[in-house]
Amino acid sequence: MIALADNQTSGLVCAHHHIYSALARGMPAPPRTPEGFMDILELVWWRLDRALDLDIIFHSARLAALEALQNGCTAVIDHHESPDAIEGSLSAIADGFADVGVRVNTAYGITDRHGPEGAAAGLAENDRFLRDGGRGMVGLHAAFTCEDDTIAAAAELAKTHGVGVHVHVAEGAEDTWQQLRGHTADDWLLIHGVHLPDDHGLSGTIVHNARSNMNNSVGYGNPARFSNPVALGTDGIGSDMLDEFRLSFVRAREVDVTATPDLIWGWLEAGWDLFPEARADRVTWNYGPMDPWRLAYTTGVSALDVEVDGELLLENGVPTKVDGHEIRAKAAEAAQKLHQRLEGL
Ligand SMILES: [Zn+2]
Repeated sequence: MIALADNQTSGLVCAHHHIYSALARGMPAPPRTPEGFMDILELVWWRLDRALDLDIIFHSARLAALEALQNGCTAVIDHHESPDAIEGSLSAIADGFADVGVRVNTAYGITDRHGPEGAAAGLAENDRFLRDGGRGMVGLHAAFTCEDDTIAAAAELAKTHGVGVHVHVAEGAEDTWQQLRGHTADDWLLIHGVHLPDDHGLSGTIVHNARSNMNNSVGYGNPARFSNPVALGTDGIGSDMLDEFRLSFVRAREVDVTATPDLIWGWLEAGWDLFPEARADRVTWNYGPMDPWRLAYTTGVSALDVEVDGELLLENGVPTKVDGHEIRAKAAEAAQKLHQRLEGL
């Protein structure tokens, strides 16, 4: 491997994203102001996911991939839900990312919110995608929206495919997690863990999403307290992992003034354990040296060149393989359709 220059890093990894939310920006306001975690799910995300179709999902994916590339993020771990367009949805995401050249690992978030048929269809989509050779995991929305049988079936399917389960855990106080006990394994991704006790006994990597947790007012998980590995995600708010690193740092610092940038940089580096190929990708930044202590206090660091698998995909901030303007224009059209469908729900 060629040594990194001062102003270079490997490709950054976003360990938890919702690619379908790329077109949520500009969406019509919910029927009333959400007043808590459950309201945010019911009035915003659980309406948005019902308005998705395969074409909208594909254009969300292309836009999310473009934005990841332009932020030096070359690998994204996605958690997807589209209850009225389940079959083929993971392929639409993989196809959108393949167009731009960014790596993606995706999973369908199985849930019993739409009855046992909905849960079965979600399970089948994970199985279909993995069977076809897709890069993914088995998704579960969260224990509190799943029957025990559904959790067991997801864990079983994941084992069959030799992958982990990607699941939201204890994001809000209402989000019960005890049902996951006895199912988890080291290759699971446990998203948030805000309300988990220190000795929860679950195995897997805890993915911290500082900005999302603050935005949803769910509290601070203080992931430094866990013995599990910790990685960083955005929970659907883009793929600017340097920004997420800086935010995670000040959030940690707010409760413990001895928290170091090295600790949080370690969480960012844990992404490479989840997506090892990204380690060989190359990002050249407009700043150097790329040292955690400097980066914690340097805002606005941008990716200039990005190489994925030896191929130059971003040159001086401009994508080489796709037309960024065309992707944004098509995404704007798809967003308009999505927002119109939302008005009708
Ligand atoms: Zn999430």
